Amino acid sequence: MIGEHPIKQLLSDTQAHWDHDGTPAHIRDTFWKIINCGTGALGAEVYASELESKLVFHTCKSRFCTSCGQRATEAWQQDLEAVLPDIPYVGITLTLPMEFRIILQQNRHILHGIPAMGAEAVQQWAWARYGVRLIISVVQQTFGGRLNFAPHLHIMVSAGGLRESPARWIHRIQYDRRELMLAWRYAVGAFLSEAFKKGVLKSDLSSKEFLDLLGAQHRREWNIFISRPGSKAYRLKHDGRYIRRPPVAQHRLARVGIDRVEYLAKDTRNKRPVLVQYKNEEFVDILAQHVPHRYGHAMRYFGLLAPRCKARLWGVLFVLLNQQQRPHPLRLPWRWLRIKTFGIDPLLDSQGQLMHWSGRQEPSSASRAAVRKQNEELT
Ligand SMILES: [Zn+2]
Repeated sequence: MIGEHPIKQLLSDTQAHWDHDGTPAHIRDTFWKIINCGTGALGAEVYASELESKLVFHTCKSRFCTSCGQRATEAWQQDLEAVLPDIPYVGITLTLPMEFRIILQQNRHILHGIPAMGAEAVQQWAWARYGVRLIISVVQQTFGGRLNFAPHLHIMVSAGGLRESPARWIHRIQYDRRELMLAWRYAVGAFLSEAFKKGVLKSDLSSKEFLDLLGAQHRREWNIFISRPGSKAYRLKHDGRYIRRPPVAQHRLARVGIDRVEYLAKDTRNKRPVLVQYKNEEFVDILAQHVPHRYGHAMRYFGLLAPRCKARLWGVLFVLLNQQQRPHPLRLPWRWLRIKTFGIDPLLDSQGQLMHWSGRQEPSSASRAAVRKQNEELT
């Protein structure tokens, strides 16, 4: 049985398992918002005509929510499509050794610094090799194909770079896998060793064990992947859809019975999908470890896209490329989206009169308790 919102349903069914003080607040809030996405509990905009009024409920905006996550992905693609210059781009995937995952899991706060570290490694390499600045956007993912905790970075980077004096666009950069791996490995190693020295790293390891671990990982090859250059449209459509996708695509999850789910996992080794069964609570625990902290932006910009660089050089870049800058696209407001998708204007009342915005209904503080009560009554 595949429900329309399998995750919503699953979270609602397992509320007793996660909705308590033992769950970190950001996870609890996210789950709670997903359950209540598009209901009065999150508040609403009020529209009214002379005769009728209508509530348009707020949505949760979480990447985990099947509808909100999908919408966010599309908006992101349209935005980059408009704003980035029309040149070839390269996809770079930076992974971390398995052996570091426990440390990262125990120190979630340092995950936040990893996208900048990856971007910096790539940018510094390009600067040393070609003397150029790159266009860099980074998406951090914490999950692998089986939803295991496997933090890694997907970097979309311009296939060329900007040299400043004299101003010139260097069209073809040969991204060197080995050299980039060394730069990335060095950056991560230096960061972890610094953090450990300063005592801001929680770890069960002794000082010697930690240094041995760092040393061992510093001597081995890390997995990094570099794609061939592709057009902007190609990269955004193919990689973009893949990298910015919600962690759990709707078609991958199915409820089986009342206490189990079936998840169509990607087996990265055999490149084949595998069906894995979990108890409801087990699957919710897996989801919980991928809920980003409030400050965690899924998409980050560096190099020529970093605010200070962008202000100074973005115009120059377009002149050199002989291209026109385009503005950020307007987000299609929900009303026009409905008209486009369903052919019905949601703001017409039953008499065909247009309803206008007339106020906002705040999220009710009582509603959280009410939902809990409702659930208790159901069970
Ligand atoms: Zn939502």
